[in-house]
Amino acid sequence: MNTTSHVYLDYAATTPVDSRVVEAMLPYFNDEFGNPSSIHYFGQKAEAALENARENVANCFHCDPDEIIFTSCGTESDNLALRGAALAEREKRGATHILTTPVEHHAVLHTVFNLARYDGFDVELLPVDANGLVNPVEVNRRIRKETALVSVIFANNEIGSIYPVEEIGRVCREWSTPFHTDAVQAVAHLPIDVRALNIDLMSVGAHKFYGPKGVGALYVRRGIQVIPVQTGGAQEFGLRAGTQNIPYIVGMAIALRLIQEERSPWTAFITPIRDRIISRVLADIPQVRLTGHPTNRLPNHVSFVFEGVDANTLLMMLDSAGFACSSGSACKTGSPEPSGVLLALGLSPSLALGSLRVTLGQYTTSSEVDAFLAVLPGLVERTRVLTAGVERS
Ligand SMILES: *Cc1c(COP(=O)(O)O)cnc(C)c1O
Repeated sequence: MNTTSHVYLDYAATTPVDSRVVEAMLPYFNDEFGNPSSIHYFGQKAEAALENARENVANCFHCDPDEIIFTSCGTESDNLALRGAALAEREKRGATHILTTPVEHHAVLHTVFNLARYDGFDVELLPVDANGLVNPVEVNRRIRKETALVSVIFANNEIGSIYPVEEIGRVCREWSTPFHTDAVQAVAHLPIDVRALNIDLMSVGAHKFYGPKGVGALYVRRGIQVIPVQTGGAQEFGLRAGTQNIPYIVGMAIALRLIQEERSPWTAFITPIRDRIISRVLADIPQVRLTGHPTNRLPNHVSFVFEGVDANTLLMMLDSAGFACSSGSACKTGSPEPSGVLLALGLSPSLALGSLRVTLGQYTTSSEVDAFLAVLPGLVERTRVLTAGVERS
């Protein structure tokens, strides 16, 4: 990667692995290569590393080590939480209703839609306001004794808004209904105490907080039942079969510790830069709207919609100018579909197709942001001309 000519402003998509994390992982590929399920010396060394990582992860989230299940990614954690708890609650008490939101990541939405299609669950989407937020009162209004599970994202990957997890969790606790939150975007930026926040199940993924790709974790509060999705050996308390990826798990635990130690000074540095992008874009560019909450949002996250702009054209222009950004949704090829998250905010499909997400990270500098702000208005203008030309032809 030529970092001098290309500026990375897409930290919500993924982050580079911190070099201290890489360092910590290395011995576990060859020197300490044992299978943690083996009884001998090599196995014991691997098991010690595994359990040490589990303790560190549990400490960061204020829970016990046996409440942490290691998985292969945030998506797998979402699948295990949703399928696992929904099927367990149905078996236990016949519950078949799932309450979630239209602003979830696809790892949640496509999983609950599958549970509806193939397992007969009744999925209900909570209303969201113009900032994409969910009112806990609405959860209380819609939850019922047949509700197997409530799932609400912690911090939104597309629009940055931060959700009232503690209050939603309290409603679920009153109804004795398991509450899952997808905290994959939240971990890098917000301290999380799962007990204080009334969370029963929580998904995280390491590559969003300077750990490696392909490893994640699921917090499962003691007493919450989960039926395994991946069956086989007895690893991870029987909830996730398969030999654990020790180097990646060790890396995730270190990354989590580092982010926890370094988060607060970094947040103080980056938040005013975020706010400078927001105010400059709204002042310098006509016909633009911020998406997501103006202040109750991730400190590294800005997202807009521009009228008369095709998002992919703008992203290619930005890339040619040396800036890597995102439209916020996963679609990158073929005929563009407007993002369901943006439609749920009440935006028109054509406006939703003009989205831009800029997410900052630990290696972002103020001068990179200045350079970005200097080119963006001109590139939006050129994109508008091109987009209008395509629409006429
Ligand atoms: C990235 C992301 C996921 C998926 O995590 P992977 O580790 O890439 O599978 C799930 N939810 C949210 C909110 C995300 O941002």
